[in-house]
Amino acid sequence: MDEAESISIISIVGKNNSDCGYCHSEDTSFTYGIWAHALSYSDYQSLIDRGWRRRSGHYVYKPDLRKSCCPQYTIRLDAQEFKISKSQRKVLNKFNRFIDGTWDPDTKSENTPQKKPPKPKNDQALTDIIHAAETQDKDYRHKLEPCQIVLEPASYTKEKYDVYCKYQTVVHNDKKEELSTKSFKRFLVESPMKVEKTTNTSVGYGSYHQKYLLDGKLIAMAVLDILPKCVSSVYFLYDPDYSFLGLGKYSALREISLVQDLNQQKGKDDLKWYYMGYYIHSCPKMNYKGQYQPSYLLDPLAYQWFPLAEYQKLLDTRSFVSLARPDKEDADPGVPPGWLDPGSLTREDLKKVLLLVEGGMVAPAVSVTSHTESSKLWKAIKEYVAAVGLQLSERMIIC
Ligand SMILES: [Zn+2]
Repeated sequence: MDEAESISIISIVGKNNSDCGYCHSEDTSFTYGIWAHALSYSDYQSLIDRGWRRRSGHYVYKPDLRKSCCPQYTIRLDAQEFKISKSQRKVLNKFNRFIDGTWDPDTKSENTPQKKPPKPKNDQALTDIIHAAETQDKDYRHKLEPCQIVLEPASYTKEKYDVYCKYQTVVHNDKKEELSTKSFKRFLVESPMKVEKTTNTSVGYGSYHQKYLLDGKLIAMAVLDILPKCVSSVYFLYDPDYSFLGLGKYSALREISLVQDLNQQKGKDDLKWYYMGYYIHSCPKMNYKGQYQPSYLLDPLAYQWFPLAEYQKLLDTRSFVSLARPDKEDADPGVPPGWLDPGSLTREDLKKVLLLVEGGMVAPAVSVTSHTESSKLWKAIKEYVAAVGLQLSERMIIC
């Protein structure tokens, strides 16, 4: 890893409340945010393991699970232990049959293949079924070129933007005039992480676009972060003309198989997790994330992982659950769950927190703010340290 790539520089954005994107209640979603100018891969890994997430571009936030109407629990799947379900297998087979021309969604009829495609056995590995769509078998009656899946560093192209606009307007009912190349770039192209240069052919860490090309045409795209321990899904968009392919579900399986490939490629045992974003128990639309097994939720108070099913049982009865510290579930310490108490932080605690000052110099925050204990900046720094925790606060530079 480059020296330059190992430094994180952030600005404090602070607390934010907004309308809930899941149940559409007004002003019931509470978060805390930072603006990441640069993030090292390991710092971002540490952040997401404390419930943070890159929403888009450079903005990284942490929801307040106690106060928000639809609490967002960080969910991750062990890709090495992934057990594909019957319905997930169906999604893969449908996609593969469309690619090899044995299924035509227009006529709804099954074409009889010249040679019967090999029926996937129940124990066939996920990656084998996934990669079947990319291999060419001359005996098949091909309608299309094999599907090409291309992983490339996040970048802007007109083609990506066009599919994005189509997706946002048709699937999310966004108004066309609200979309722009600028907002697209800010949302899905820009990233605080540069793609790591590797000396061999293995994929480096960083922010990527995974393109789905059919006959050379872009039909879908995943925005992904590849990190030391995981692949983290940021966003997925597709051409609505191809919605019959169930691409949302397909892409999750594709990404799980990417984790498996990376695990092999890098020979790293701990690179085995697939982060799907947040699990929202109260939102049926987002519940599908729980269907990929075995999954774990991050405990909002102790930052330990427990099996999803153990939370699900309890989330049916209440919205804020801590399996690690059930005694602290109801206690309201006046700060968001998982935070340190900003009021209890001393100057000693904060002596390693660094601030970028004029001329590109770095200085301890305590020395810069020594005469202004009660200043806005000092308060903001304490709150930030409380939110990210002491360890991360000593690694990321505030600017
Ligand atoms: Zn809500």
